[in-house]
Formats: sequence, C-alpha cells, structure tokens
Amino acid sequence: MSPKPKSPQTVPSDPATQAKIAAALALSDQREECLLALAKIVQGCTRCPILAPRRTNTVFGSGNPNAELVFVGEGPGADEDAQGLPFVGRSGQLLTDIIEKGMRISRSEVYICNIVRCRPPENRRPTDEEAAFCRPFLDATLGVIRPKYLCLLGATAAQSLLGTTESIGKLRGRAHEYRGAQVICTYHPSYLLRNPAAKRQTWEDIKLLLQIMGRKVSP
Ligand code: SF4
Repeated sequence: MSPKPKSPQTVPSDPATQAKIAAALALSDQREECLLALAKIVQGCTRCPILAPRRTNTVFGSGNPNAELVFVGEGPGADEDAQGLPFVGRSGQLLTDIIEKGMRISRSEVYICNIVRCRPPENRRPTDEEAAFCRPFLDATLGVIRPKYLCLLGATAAQSLLGTTESIGKLRGRAHEYRGAQVICTYHPSYLLRNPAAKRQTWEDIKLLLQIMGRKVSP
C-alpha cells in the first residue's frame, strides 16, 4: 500500500513571526549571522501555549552554518533545556559517536536541530500543532544552511518533514527527498538507548547516507 499523506495541520497563520523571520534573513548574507538572528526570534517566541512558559531555554540548533549534512531530531530533553543546546545528554553522546566514530566526521562539521525548539513536558512527543507552529523556524534554518543531505532522527522528525504517517521502520533504509536535499531516516538515539538491537539497522542507514554523500564506508 502506498504511504498515507499526513492530514495537513491547521495552524493559525502568524504574519508577525513570518515578518520577523524575513527581516532576520534580510539582515545579512552571512549564514552564521542569519542563524543568530533567527535564534533571537526563537528566544522570544510564545506560540506554543504549553511549551513556552515551561522552558528554561529555547534550543535553536548548533553546528556548522555551512554544513552539507543536517541532523533533525524531535525536541529538547531535560539536559538540552538546561543548556540551550541540542543533543547534549546520553542520546547526544550516542549521536556524537554515530557521527564521529561511525561516520568519521567531526560533530562540528554538521548542523543539528530539532522539530521543536522548546522542551515538551515529560519528554512527550511534540503535538502536530506544536510541530506546525515551530516549522517556520526549521524551514528558515534549512533555507539558510541549504544542506545537501538530511538525516531525520526518529518518527516525529521523519513524519513531520516528509508529511507522511508511515512508520519509521518503513521510512528507514531508503533515500527520500526534501526541498532538494537527499534524506535518510533512521531511529532516534534515545530509542537506540532503549533498544540497542536496533543499532544494527541504524548502522545500515548511516552506511547508506555515507554512500549517498560519496564518503568512504567502513564494512
Ligand atoms: S516550540 Fe517553537 S513555536 Fe513553540 S514556543 Fe517554542 S520556539 Fe515557539
């Protein structure tokens, strides 16, 4: 059966946010400066009524503004909320190992961000509405960096970006496309911590990503 397209989430349009994003992007032709300007807008964002008042820090993203590869996860956890940085807890260490030991790329070479920039309570999945509220920031980030490759970590990132309800088990293992970037989906590192047996499939996905990127693949 062909993948079900996800029903479009109805979210009130927010011309004020769109105008702020457009103004931030017009400030400079330097990617780093554009990302800093976007991060400042995110710091003041209150679009999600449940997430915004509970956050300690917004977590915009981090890494190389000129990265050819961007990883997109789900949302900040407790460590990320405390530090304002993505993937800094146990799952962050595993992601670093995947990038540095598995792919033999420095973590500072890639860019890492999430579907939502504020921590969902009890580490629950962001709702479709929260993902849609935060989408302009993700799209603007990807628009600035213009990566050639995306690695989507877990069902939330994969389904949200690709606009499908297909399971991560079905989305992984093959290449997709998003706005000109080649896309690989795989399991979220926090899932791998709970289910270490799935690391083998993630390694297959990472090898496919390396192959697509034209990089050396270890056996
Ligand atoms: S998750 Fe995104 S849209 Fe929601 S309040 Fe935080 S920054 Fe704003």
